[in-house]
Amino acid sequence: MRRITIFGATGSIGENTVDLLERQGGAEAYDVVALTGGRNVARLAEQARTLRADVAVTAYPDCLDDLEAALAGSGVEAAAGPQALAEAADRPADWIMSAIVGAAGLVPGMRALKHGTTLALANKESLVTAGPLLLGTAEAHGARILPVDSEHSAIFQALVGEEIDAVERIIITASGGAFRDWPIEALESATPEQASSHPNWAMGQRITVDSASMFNKALELIETKEYFGGDPARIEAVVHPESLIHALVGFRDGAIMAHVGPPDMRHAIGYALNWPDRRDLPVARLDLAQIGQLNFRSACEKRWPALRLAREVMEAGGLTGAAFNAAKEAALDAFLARQISFPRMAGVVEDVLTRLSGEGGLTKMQISLENVLEVDHLARQAAADIVRGSERQGSY
Ligand code: NDP
Repeated sequence: MRRITIFGATGSIGENTVDLLERQGGAEAYDVVALTGGRNVARLAEQARTLRADVAVTAYPDCLDDLEAALAGSGVEAAAGPQALAEAADRPADWIMSAIVGAAGLVPGMRALKHGTTLALANKESLVTAGPLLLGTAEAHGARILPVDSEHSAIFQALVGEEIDAVERIIITASGGAFRDWPIEALESATPEQASSHPNWAMGQRITVDSASMFNKALELIETKEYFGGDPARIEAVVHPESLIHALVGFRDGAIMAHVGPPDMRHAIGYALNWPDRRDLPVARLDLAQIGQLNFRSACEKRWPALRLAREVMEAGGLTGAAFNAAKEAALDAFLARQISFPRMAGVVEDVLTRLSGEGGLTKMQISLENVLEVDHLARQAAADIVRGSERQGSY
């Protein structure tokens, strides 16, 4: 039986992965090694019981008692804390889903790759912060990284049987998020509640807000460059309000391959789970005649400055992505805590990049795990400082 581990099992991607495992035979068909979560230990324990996991791990030591109580009599081991998460990655597995949200997903993912495991990567932050390190570790240990982000799964599928040298450009689509049609001036008063509703996709809160600001698309542009390589100038984002085409790959002969599918993450997760085969998936089938039309418009960098910042990060390379992601996470926290306004998030990230990249600081450092974690720390500190400054100036 295939041995499976899910990092971030209680989140949106994690739940969809659990759903697919259950539909494909559950504990009878898969040997579930480890399931990890954060504070939702009741759900984590429920999943671990149903899938008969060997171990359930919460990221938070103060949640261990509750997890142990919820698992009492089940035979499932309970563990907690960052070290336990890393150890879960050391347990032999054939396929590991990386679906922790944020930079916290990097260390378990790196550990898993060192064992030559196949890593289904939803945690885009790992590639943004430490792309060369992650890919280098996979190569050195004969491990494979399968993209799970819908755009990157779409690109991956469009490239089956193709030579990467024949690719002229890659276009990823963006729904435009909650504020796509708002006047730009109105964004100053946008609330976390308003930013947390997505027109097409049901996702975790953080990525939903990142969709409204396009920081999610910014991360995906960088992720595209890291995973598929190529000139950043040939990687584009276009607004496609229906979210039915996820990505398009343009080839040197002018042909474009587009991946079309319903906005349901089980598609991309199922593709990675069953790769290289295709199996039945419980996603809606599209009726193109009923859909009638697909719309596209250019992604305005005035409305979404995160896209301009992504381009600068792709061009700078080095550890700029690590600073960008950490600053973005800190700015998002500040917005959710109502310390800064929605548009100010991009300003905070830009200020952090300016502060840390002086004298080529971010591009000259070696890309090692220690340096990535150090830059992550420095960027969060700088962001907190800048947020405090914004509050003093009353620029909410
Ligand atoms: P969620 O917020 O829904 O879930 C995050 C998961 O990570 C939960 O299991 C959560 O536990 C756990 N978690 C939270 N903080 C920590 C931490 N510090 N250490 C360890 N575990 C933690 O996120 P999503 O499922 O939406 O996204 C997961 C990843 O997948 C992100 O990187 C996102 O960008 C990416 N992604 C998501 C898509 C989507 O459709 N949702 C689409 C494409 C990519 P708990 O809830 O128990 O506290």
